[in-house]
Amino acid sequence: MERLAGRERLANPVFNQKELIKEQFMSKTVDFSTKLIIGGRPLPGSEGKTFETINPANGKVLASIAEASGEDVNKAVSAARKAFEEGPWSKMAPAERKKVLLRFATVIEAHSEELAMMEAMEAGKPITDCLEIDMPETVNTIRWHAEAIDKMYDQISPSDPSILSMIVREPMGVVAAILPWNFPAMMAAWKLGPILATGNTVVLKPAEQTSLSTIRIGELAAEAGIPDGVINVVCGFGETVGKALGEHPDVDCVAFTGSTETGRMFLRYSADTNLKRVLLECGGKNPFIVMGDTEDLDTAADHATNSIFWNMGENCSSNSRLLVHQSIKDELLELIVEKSKEWVVGDPLDASTKIGPMIEQAHLDKVMGFIDQANQDKNKLVIGGKRTREDTGGYFVQPTIFDDVKPENTLFSEEVFGPVLGITTFKDPEEGIALANQNKYGLAASVFTSSNKTAHVAARKIKAGTVAVNCYGEGDITTPFGGYKLSGFGGRDKSLAAHDQYCELKTIWIDLT
Ligand code: NAD
Ligand code: MN
Repeated sequence: MERLAGRERLANPVFNQKELIKEQFMSKTVDFSTKLIIGGRPLPGSEGKTFETINPANGKVLASIAEASGEDVNKAVSAARKAFEEGPWSKMAPAERKKVLLRFATVIEAHSEELAMMEAMEAGKPITDCLEIDMPETVNTIRWHAEAIDKMYDQISPSDPSILSMIVREPMGVVAAILPWNFPAMMAAWKLGPILATGNTVVLKPAEQTSLSTIRIGELAAEAGIPDGVINVVCGFGETVGKALGEHPDVDCVAFTGSTETGRMFLRYSADTNLKRVLLECGGKNPFIVMGDTEDLDTAADHATNSIFWNMGENCSSNSRLLVHQSIKDELLELIVEKSKEWVVGDPLDASTKIGPMIEQAHLDKVMGFIDQANQDKNKLVIGGKRTREDTGGYFVQPTIFDDVKPENTLFSEEVFGPVLGITTFKDPEEGIALANQNKYGLAASVFTSSNKTAHVAARKIKAGTVAVNCYGEGDITTPFGGYKLSGFGGRDKSLAAHDQYCELKTIWIDLT
C-alpha cells in the first residue's frame, strides 16, 4: 500500500476528471443504496429499523441504513447456506468461477470513483487515497485471488501402493466476515477474494460506521453474475448483528478484522456454540526502529511520517512507536517535524488533503484521551496535540508527535489508532530489538539500518507477522498479512495462505486391494 508523496499527488490529474461525480455526491443527486442484501435481493430490516451513518468531516447524517434483526441474520445465513449446498458456486468448475470473479473485479473497477467517494464521505478518508490506493487495491485483490483459482492443485500422499490416498481441500461452507471501518472496501476485498475463490459463500457485516461501500459492492456482485445468496450483506451493530453471526450454529467460519477486545469475543462465541473456525486480524502497536548506522535518514523520516499519518493513523499496521538510536534522534526528529508539515489536515473531498477526520466522536474522544495521558506522563509534546477544524463540526486531530516516551508509559504500549507518534531512544541494536518486542501486540515492524547483518538479525528476532526493512510496508497481495501475539489468531489475509484458511482439509483413503 504505497502512497505518493504530497506534491506528486497534487500534480495528479486523475482527480480533476472526477469533478462530475463529486458534484453529484455533494449535491445529493446520488442515492445511496442503504438496504440489506439477502439472497440477491435488497431488503429493509424485518423490524423496519434503520440507523444513521454520519459524515465524520461535518458530523452530519449521510444516510439511514437498514438495520438487520436477528431474523434477518438467520435469513442471510440460510441464503448463504442454500447457495452453498445447491450450487452452482461451490460446485462450479474452477475456470468458470475464475471467470465470474474476474468479472466482479472489472465491475468494481468500473465503479471505483463512486465507491471512492462513498469511502471519503463515510469514513473521512482522503479522496486521493481512496482513488489511488484503496480502490486499485480492492480491485487487484479480487483479481489476484480469482486468477489463482484454476492454478491450485491438491495432493496424493506417499502412502503404501495398495492405497490411493488423496489430500483434498474443500470450501468450509458459510463464512461470516465482520469488517472494520478504516479500509471498508479493501477489507471487504481481503475477505471476499479468498472466501469466494475457494468456493465458499459469505455473509458480510460492515462496521456500523461504514456500510455504504460494502452494500454497493454486494449489489455489484449481481451485475457481475455472482449467483444470488453467494454474497449477503447484513448491516447493524456489533453487539447485535456481529454477535448473532459469531454465535450462529450454521456459520462455519468467522473472519474478523478489528480490535483485539472484540476478536476475543468471537473466540468465546465459537467456544460456546458450534466451534466454528475463527480468524482474527486485530490491533497493533508497531515499532519503527532506526538503527544508529542508518545512512539515509531522510528516507527513514519519509517512511516514519507516512506510516504514522497515512489514513489518519487509523491503521492496524501503522508504526506508532518510533524507536531510534540516541545518537541520531535529534537529526531524525528534525526531519520528521519538517515532513509533518506536508500532512495537511482538511476536507476529505479536497484532493490536497492528507489527513481527514477521526471516524466518529467516540473515537476522537479516545484519541484525545491518549494525548491527555501522554501529557500527564510528561512525554514531551513536539507538534500537534489538539483538535482542529472544529468549526466544520468534524472530528479532526492535528498530527501529533511526543518525544521522551518511556517504556512504562501508556503511549508506548497502547494502540491509539490516530495520528499520534511516540518516540523512545535506545543505546544499541539489542536494546532496540528488545524494546520492539516489549509489547502485547506483534503485527508489523519496520527496521532501518545500513547493515545487512543487523537487518537480518532484527528481522528474525522481532516477533511480528511482517518485518519491513528500510521501508514502511505490508508487502503486496502475494504476501501473507497477520499478527503474532494479541494481533491475530488462526490465519493470514492476502496471498495463497488466505485460501488455506477458508478450506477444510480432507483425506480420502482408498483401499485398492
Ligand atoms: P471493533 O473491534 O469493536 O469493531 C470491528 C467490527 O466488530 C465492527 O464490524 C463491529 O460492529 C463488530 N463488533 C463490535 N463489537 C462486537 C461484538 N460485541 N460482537 C460482535 N461484533 C462486534 O472496533 P471499534 O470499536 O470500531 O474500534 C475500537 C478500536 O479497535 C480502535 O480504536 C482500534 O484500536 C481498533 N480497530 C482496529 C482495526 C484493525 O484494522 N485491526 C480496525 C478497526 C478498529
Ligand atoms: Mn467496539
